Amino acid sequence: RKGTAVITGASSGLGLATAKALAETGKWHVIMGCRDFLKASRAAKAAGMDKDSYTIVHLDLASLDSVRQFVKNVRQLEMPVDVVVCNAAVYQPTAKEPSFTADGFEMSVGVNHLGHFLLARELLSDLQSSDYPSKRLIIVGSITGNTNTLAGNVPPKANLGDLRGLAGGLNGVGSSVMIDGGEFDGAKAYKDSKVCNMLTMQEFHRRYHEETGVTFASLYPGCIATTGLFREHIPLFRLLFPPFQKYITKGYVSEEEAGKRLAQVVSDPSLTKSGVYWSWNKNSASFENQLSEEASDADKAKKLWEISEKLVGLA
Ligand code: NDP
Repeated sequence: RKGTAVITGASSGLGLATAKALAETGKWHVIMGCRDFLKASRAAKAAGMDKDSYTIVHLDLASLDSVRQFVKNVRQLEMPVDVVVCNAAVYQPTAKEPSFTADGFEMSVGVNHLGHFLLARELLSDLQSSDYPSKRLIIVGSITGNTNTLAGNVPPKANLGDLRGLAGGLNGVGSSVMIDGGEFDGAKAYKDSKVCNMLTMQEFHRRYHEETGVTFASLYPGCIATTGLFREHIPLFRLLFPPFQKYITKGYVSEEEAGKRLAQVVSDPSLTKSGVYWSWNKNSASFENQLSEEASDADKAKKLWEISEKLVGLA
């Protein structure tokens, strides 16, 4: 039978390119979890995806109710869930003020981490009951959360501190809107959320890999300088960033190529190792990358897990 992959944020950029790459193999059906149904359906059509190769299900990660409803709706499709890809993200580098999810969490961490945390926890039982030979839960990471790399050292750097802001609810009411308790900084909030994504993947691996046989993985797909992720950046940045990445850092990767990389992590029979953070070298060969000290801190991962459970109502 075909595999079924749930991909969040499949209406543009990496998520769409991955959905397309998987659909084109004829071996995958993609459940596209998207907040804007019309945009997603137009994007899938424009990408030339066969209409039988995907199903769009509404998902707004900025609302825990929407995440729970999404899980119900996916179950009603009566398709197996073989792979889950947590891909959607918001990035607000120029925001002066924080914005908030329906549940009152600062938006970047609320969407990129907490919404996905609840989604992944809920869908784990569905993955468990699938009879697919290689079940996977993939959380897209980023180099920007790795302070052991050049790109990860561009200020403001990710730093979760002792997680006091998160423990306080990240709502700006009696607690900070930043995980480490500091002042709001949109670029840092995004990087922090990506560290959370990578810590969460490893904690899933430690808690559930042996018991469930599910492969947990994260990846840095390369710098996809053309995606909508940079839509809130200043125009000059958006003009100069793609050539800068192409010719100076040489980290540039097209949406199509990045989509193939993520599709590989979804489906390649050789990428079954769990607890791994994949990256690609200049020749586009995958390798297991090292994470920064903070992004591989097991105590922090455990603490993050426990606080996140409380915030999303699982504990
Ligand atoms: P895009 O902005 O193109 O895609 C992000 C997707 O997330 C969009 O489909 C967007 O939906 C969706 N999304 C945003 N907010 C929500 C929400 N509240 N609920 C549901 N969906 C939402 O960016 P990319 O493709 O670049 O980013 C995809 C992933 O890749 C992210 O995890 C990012 O961190 C990661 N990444 C990107 C890099 C890059 O260089 N671009 C580098 C490293 C990692 P909509 O279409 O409705 O806006």
